[in-house]
Amino acid sequence: MYLGAHVSISGGFDKCIDRAVGLGANCLMTFASSPRSLKTRTFSPQVIKTYLAKKARFKIGPHFFHSVYLVNLASESKALLTASINSLIFYQRLAGTIDAVGTIFHIGSHKGQGLSSTIDQIVAAINYVLDSSPKGTKLILENAAGHSGIVGDKFEELAEIIKRVGDRSKIGICLDTQHAFASGYPLDIVLDKFDRLIGLKFLSVIHLNDSLVDFSSRRDRHANLGEGKIGLETLREFITNLKLKTKTFPPLILETPGINRSGPSKVDLDLLKSLVT
Ligand SMILES: [Zn+2]
Repeated sequence: MYLGAHVSISGGFDKCIDRAVGLGANCLMTFASSPRSLKTRTFSPQVIKTYLAKKARFKIGPHFFHSVYLVNLASESKALLTASINSLIFYQRLAGTIDAVGTIFHIGSHKGQGLSSTIDQIVAAINYVLDSSPKGTKLILENAAGHSGIVGDKFEELAEIIKRVGDRSKIGICLDTQHAFASGYPLDIVLDKFDRLIGLKFLSVIHLNDSLVDFSSRRDRHANLGEGKIGLETLREFITNLKLKTKTFPPLILETPGINRSGPSKVDLDLLKSLVT
């Protein structure tokens, strides 16, 4: 069973492994570049080597990348679309180099013109990124929290996009419990809905977060486990359902604010472990 958290790479790429180990995690998620910019970067072979050696030494499992926040495949701006595609390709190639699972990303948002007017562009962009992605890496679409113009809050939208992608074996879905809750999916039935509309075989990873905001409030605001509107018992029930319904239990990744918004702490990871056992 893989339980982990979003950790930072600041101070050196391999430092993410130290941070995961410090939390007691056995899998992790990171950015690979500044999350507030679409600029790509390079890592020297020595940096990669140090990271891989450390990852092996501490027996850390799957590494997921999270794309930068500015990625928007539904954008009307050609420049932003191109930069988004280039950023995703950079992430996917790096994922191939470090043997990461792939890149989790939010599809993006449009200015209210509806999915039908942007879906061709989104699918073409995804296909282009997949064609440029190394073998064995996945592009992982995350369900969104549902503010106006966002794509991928509804499972029907994710299903529609997947249906039109060329190579579906390279596609996964990240289900974020806070985003689902804020988009009006009760967590006790969310997996059944997911299975019916998308198919659980696409479920690659879970972002396990509590919610600072109310059910169906359509806002993306994470809370520490047990400190939000979802609550520990519902999260525990969700994990039990996950065990029952999935063939392979997906990695659970925390994206909780932690103490003083410094990110998930060991206390959060310990709490997650207690929910899973
Ligand atoms: Zn998330």
